[in-house]
Amino acid sequence: MCGAQTQYNISDHIDLRYGYIEGMGQLCSPCYQGSGRSHILIDYRTIFDTPNDMELGRKIRSAYFKETGIVPSVYWETISVDK
Ligand SMILES: [Zn+2]
Repeated sequence: MCGAQTQYNISDHIDLRYGYIEGMGQLCSPCYQGSGRSHILIDYRTIFDTPNDMELGRKIRSAYFKETGIVPSVYWETISVDK
């Protein structure tokens, strides 16, 4: 999650690694142990079914708000197109 190098190679079997989470990948031990970081899982389908990165970002952010129960204090205005 933080991008730190771990002691594992990509060829190491996942059953032999510490901190590997299926669907998420290899975490370093501070991230795996959750020292000040937490995670949400994003379904593969959400990623594959959302080719637009901006839209994917919005979906991930709203999943985060839903997961944490946080109500964002700032909303983007909806852009309306005048005809
Ligand atoms: Zn980490």
